[in-house]
Amino acid sequence: ASAGDENDVIIIGGGPGGYVAAIKAAQLGLKTTCIEKRGTLGGTCLNVGCIPSKASTLLSSSPSSSIPVFSLFSPRDLGFCLVLLRQDLFLSSALLHSSHMYHEANHSFPSHGVKFSQVEVDLAAMMAQKDKAVSNLTRGIEGLFKKNKVNYVKGFGKFVSTSEVSVDTIEGGNTVVKGKNIIIATGSDVKSLPGITIDEKKIVSSTGALSLSEIPKKLVVIGAGYIGLEMGSVWGRLGSEVTVVEFAPDIVPSMDSEVRKLFQRTLEKQKMKFMLKTKVVGVDTSGEGVKLTVEPAAGGERSTLEADVVLVSAGRTPYTAGLGLEDIGVKMDKVGRIIVDERFTTSVPGVYAIGDVIPGPMLAHKAEEDGVACVEFIAGKDGHVDYDLVPGVVYTHPEVASVGKTEDQVKASGVEYCVGKFPFMANSRAKAIDDAEGVVKILAEKETDKILGVHIMAPNAGELIHEAVLALQYGAASEDIARTCHAHPTMSEAVKEAAMATYDKPIHI
Ligand code: FAD
Repeated sequence: ASAGDENDVIIIGGGPGGYVAAIKAAQLGLKTTCIEKRGTLGGTCLNVGCIPSKASTLLSSSPSSSIPVFSLFSPRDLGFCLVLLRQDLFLSSALLHSSHMYHEANHSFPSHGVKFSQVEVDLAAMMAQKDKAVSNLTRGIEGLFKKNKVNYVKGFGKFVSTSEVSVDTIEGGNTVVKGKNIIIATGSDVKSLPGITIDEKKIVSSTGALSLSEIPKKLVVIGAGYIGLEMGSVWGRLGSEVTVVEFAPDIVPSMDSEVRKLFQRTLEKQKMKFMLKTKVVGVDTSGEGVKLTVEPAAGGERSTLEADVVLVSAGRTPYTAGLGLEDIGVKMDKVGRIIVDERFTTSVPGVYAIGDVIPGPMLAHKAEEDGVACVEFIAGKDGHVDYDLVPGVVYTHPEVASVGKTEDQVKASGVEYCVGKFPFMANSRAKAIDDAEGVVKILAEKETDKILGVHIMAPNAGELIHEAVLALQYGAASEDIARTCHAHPTMSEAVKEAAMATYDKPIHI
């Protein structure tokens, strides 16, 4: 497709929702154009979110270990295969991983018998490595667009009718792109708090927190959601004194409350301080640092918190500015999310919306699932996303991952249930690597043993959770996991033992 031709599908936004939808649409034989204003693909996730903030655990994909993989691909695919493998290597240096390596070098290496005289942080090098990872990944997607013949227009898109999008291009021109179907995948933006102005220097959003030029001595994080805790962990490991201020009584409200308590204790052991049920009522940036005035959420005595940098991490808001949605009649809810039906159609036929800009968890993998299902519907096929089984992961160390219902939710549903738990302290692999903080918790229906929810706190919980996601997807019983042979010695054995504990007894505890 070229911008002048009529497209089968136009996608506004090249984030995980938009770019995946574009590739899938092209794979389904639809003439596809993707419009992205940023100048690079990958959206919030790749540019200022998931990727720069954290690291892949595929660190061991060394060039030599990847050679056998090449034989599985045709020469045509090899170029892309190379790009992707190299990306895995670069990912390993994004900030969560880089700061974790520094922390490990200081705190864990000596007990493993690895000694050296001095470990130093070179923040500029750390940031450069992160930027390299981002730029390699975003260019990788451009390569995938070329491979799949997706037309890519760099610029800001605005509806001029229900089948035309006017694009102010990055180079300075304007072009109108026509299409039978248009998908809005414009994502979300940082949400500030009343009375707090983000300057990305002393008062930063997650975007600014990914690019600080110095390690702040004192960092205050406003908001104890997963982004705040991840960014707090990064800077805490590099030496900042981190205080998290949260209005609610708990951190990460969506987490299973028992696992959450354990998680908070673990973060406190890592020297992260929490001020829960606390609100920020004043900000003073006139001096060298920032002075925050805080008071109990229910009102009461005020106190002052001093910080070099304050990270505002109070959630994200759907991004639809300047799109012209009102002009074509696309309806939104009270908080600005685009209202869609189960086929992602908005109030305007032929106009669809996916990802962070519609209701649902604001997660990259959810946006991707939306994107695939949406274009499958457009292509006349059946799309499907199971919103009850979207896994959630907090990429701290240890990580916390979950899928399905929390114990509170099961209790509230009135279903009788059993709980099986297994601590990593009793898992041989975790003990062998001396990284055994965490637990697997499985909830299953008492009568049928059907799994209702799985919650894991472990160094690699974000990987371990997928066994559980698949089990729930197939409606498995805990006994199905327990009777599945798990390789030894692996962390996954803790999942098997927790499953055994759900309906019977585990072996190793
Ligand atoms: P986005 O990624 O926001 O992409 C939308 C794109 O549309 C943007 O590139 C924007 O420039 C473009 N756009 C907007 N308007 C226009 C227009 N008019 N014309 C042209 N282009 C336009 N999620 C996870 O699943 N795992 C994580 O670990 C994780 N970590 C995160 C860490 C941080 C610090 C942040 C901020 C977010 C994180 N997220 C994570 C959330 C994740 O980034 C989002 O859920 C995901 O990016 C949403 O994808 P999307 O395609 O809907 O929107």
